[in-house]
Amino acid sequence: MIPTASISSLHIAREQRLAALQSRFEQHRLTFPAEWCDYGSDDPVHDAEHLVNCCAGCGALPQLVGDGVTWTATCACDAQAPAAKMRWQAWLQWNRSPLSVDPSWRDLPFFFVAGLDEDDARNKLARLREHLELRSNLEGARRVCGHRVGSGYLQRLKAYHGWCCYAQELLKRQSTAQAPVPTRSRSQGSRHA
Ligand SMILES: [Zn+2]
Repeated sequence: MIPTASISSLHIAREQRLAALQSRFEQHRLTFPAEWCDYGSDDPVHDAEHLVNCCAGCGALPQLVGDGVTWTATCACDAQAPAAKMRWQAWLQWNRSPLSVDPSWRDLPFFFVAGLDEDDARNKLARLREHLELRSNLEGARRVCGHRVGSGYLQRLKAYHGWCCYAQELLKRQSTAQAPVPTRSRSQGSRHA
């Protein structure tokens, strides 16, 4: 039997956490552009399967294999991404793994970054990541406190967050700002000239 006192102190702790997250989110919203809350028309949960990358080893598309607890994106050539609890997570794990061929960061269907230069995209994705973290933590805390927050809605926020992290990774890997070695040796050459 759990003593009544610890139930109510747990309840108070949850409400306090919710209030703290709420005020952090409101603070954040003051400087977050409202139009950035449109994350794109694709559904990061249901469309994940259609956004899966080709296998880097053989060019085929992977399949999801489930064991009743987790899902794993697995290719016919035996390439296998880390397992995940949710189907959308398993597709995303595959895309984020070195096993798959990345698209250009501008071709990701989320967050309207196609027309941005690298600095603007980097800034937008960093702000969006923070926004999605705050928003999903807040909605999670509201759910714990008994507010009506659908689990599908929460999953979508988490999935958007995952795609945002992937977009950041792609941008970092594909950034033209990272001077490749041949460029550096050329600029050294021009210094002597
Ligand atoms: Zn393969």
